[in-house]
Amino acid sequence: MLLETVNLTKKFGGLTAVDDVSFSVEKGKINAIIGPNGAGKSTFFNLVSGYYPPTSGQVFFKGEEITRLPSNKIARLGIARTFQTTNLFERATVLDNIIVGNRLRTQSNLWDAILRTPRLKREEQKCLDKAYEVLDFVNLTNHAHSVVENLTQEEKKRVAFALALATEPELVFLDEPAAGVNPDETEGLAELMKKMVDHGITVCLIEHKMQMIMSIAENIMVLNFGKKIAEGTPEDIMNDEEVIKAYLGG
Ligand code: ADP
Ligand code: MG
Repeated sequence: MLLETVNLTKKFGGLTAVDDVSFSVEKGKINAIIGPNGAGKSTFFNLVSGYYPPTSGQVFFKGEEITRLPSNKIARLGIARTFQTTNLFERATVLDNIIVGNRLRTQSNLWDAILRTPRLKREEQKCLDKAYEVLDFVNLTNHAHSVVENLTQEEKKRVAFALALATEPELVFLDEPAAGVNPDETEGLAELMKKMVDHGITVCLIEHKMQMIMSIAENIMVLNFGKKIAEGTPEDIMNDEEVIKAYLGG
């Protein structure tokens, strides 16, 4: 396993959004987290990527504990994420979004910036090369200079993927990557996730589109009211009584 949570819990006042969840993200696979609205899926992502500290429990990445590390440190260890609502600069170009997003990884400081040191120039060139590399990966090279607000929803999702990939992650968490995207385009995003895995990047996604999940995910966790109610292959999940009950409201 690549990432593991042990009894992970997050309380917001009296509400337990994530309740004692132990889950393993398997390396080299497409992992998925499903469950009704409000089940705690995004909160789980916020805990493992360091956006919120957990109330209790632990997170391990490649065997090392990362619980309570700040999000930028976790990003540097090789974990990237996208957000449920894409947090792109709508008025900026695709290329600028990628470059700004990747700045957090550069080594140069203010001093380098003032003096325009060779190091800064090298870093900038590296950033630019990387941006073009990830745009090529997500098939958006021809949109490098397009302003984000003019893109389709599906293209914006691909920009968000590129942004995550620019940090050279080993693991990416994708929060509802296909939300608001039509079925044909969903297929393209699914292909892109498979391509990530083919390039050695482990994927963990949250998704509502059951058909998509069942066709691409290999390891699935189901959350309901913050609790893990099932875990396994698509086949395990589809035949699980508690899952069926949760989804049919029985
Ligand atoms: P999901 O992504 O599965 O739809 P969330 O993880 O967003 O669910 O939310 C789980 C529960 O936690 C919901 O009841 C939500 O209102 C609550 N919640 C999420 N974030 C916060 C927060 N920052 N403060 C208070 N409550 C929150
Ligand atoms: Mg959510």
